[in-house]
Amino acid sequence: ARNKLASLRDVPSATRDGVDIDLHANIELPIELSAALENGATGIGLLRSEFMFMNKDYLPDEDEQYAELADIVKRMDGKPVTIRTLDIGGEKLAVALQADMGTGPNPALGLRGVRLSLRKPELLEAQFGAILRASLHGKVRVLIPMVVSVHEMTRARHIYEAVAKRLRKQGHAIPDDLPPLGAMIEIPAAAIAVDTLARECDFFAIGTNDLTQYTLAIDRTDDQVAGLFDPLHPSVLRLIRDVIKLSNERGIPVSVCGEMAGDPRYIPLFIGFGLRNLSMSPVNLLLVKQRLRRLDTRNSKHQADRVMEQWDQARIAVMLDDFNDLA
Ligand code: PEP
Ligand code: MG
Repeated sequence: ARNKLASLRDVPSATRDGVDIDLHANIELPIELSAALENGATGIGLLRSEFMFMNKDYLPDEDEQYAELADIVKRMDGKPVTIRTLDIGGEKLAVALQADMGTGPNPALGLRGVRLSLRKPELLEAQFGAILRASLHGKVRVLIPMVVSVHEMTRARHIYEAVAKRLRKQGHAIPDDLPPLGAMIEIPAAAIAVDTLARECDFFAIGTNDLTQYTLAIDRTDDQVAGLFDPLHPSVLRLIRDVIKLSNERGIPVSVCGEMAGDPRYIPLFIGFGLRNLSMSPVNLLLVKQRLRRLDTRNSKHQADRVMEQWDQARIAVMLDDFNDLA
């Protein structure tokens, strides 16, 4: 079965009725890059930049981050790389930032993601500087985590443009058209009012891990409630469906990059919602490609509509299993 999967590496990722689907990789550590390429990723849909901050007792400066990012962008050889700014906080920790974050009563609801970056703008300035310089070596997009309101994106964009100006003044070569700046949609507030974010975002990436956590009020790291962590809850599915729908209507590129995207069982649902770009752990790329090559988009749409009429998530899981057996 492994060989058969491997033979899928170079075949197009398209549905049976010929609709192209982008399959990108989520990367946490540079070492995963070769697995992404070996499994046929056509880009990196989520580069988690936290690796540059972990296991270090100092903050890496712009030059150090540039060196790491430029290497990745070069190795992707023109394939798109979506670089996410720092998402420290919650379950993700960095020694050098511990003092800034303090010990709030609930880290998942505390100073994390873009909140920390805007509280300490020098973090964002160094990251944007490194990313903009790296973007000269390929095709880059910039992604902001944990966004809840358009003001955060306005402030981030302001800093982004100021950094670009500073770099040009310093004589660094950066592209005339700055790389697209987008937001993670991973908090219910952002998903519900995604139209308000659309004015400041060039693209969206739906993070189903945090979206599930915050919609269901279930800590993604708490073993006691792990069994209740179910992205098939109708509320989670409605948020995902509606974000995809609005993005498609407005012509804003949208992807799903949470763990759900790498589970072949969910693929008919996503395709039925109108999604055309998924990003996942490299190990899941070929399984997902195999799944989607057997799908028909019109049939998937019909199946997704039926799923969304359900009120019981256990029933939804059974339906998805049925759809997948029939294919
Ligand atoms: C998510 O929240 O779904 C996501 C992709 O980001 P992370 O898992 O890094 O929080
Ligand atoms: Mg997240």
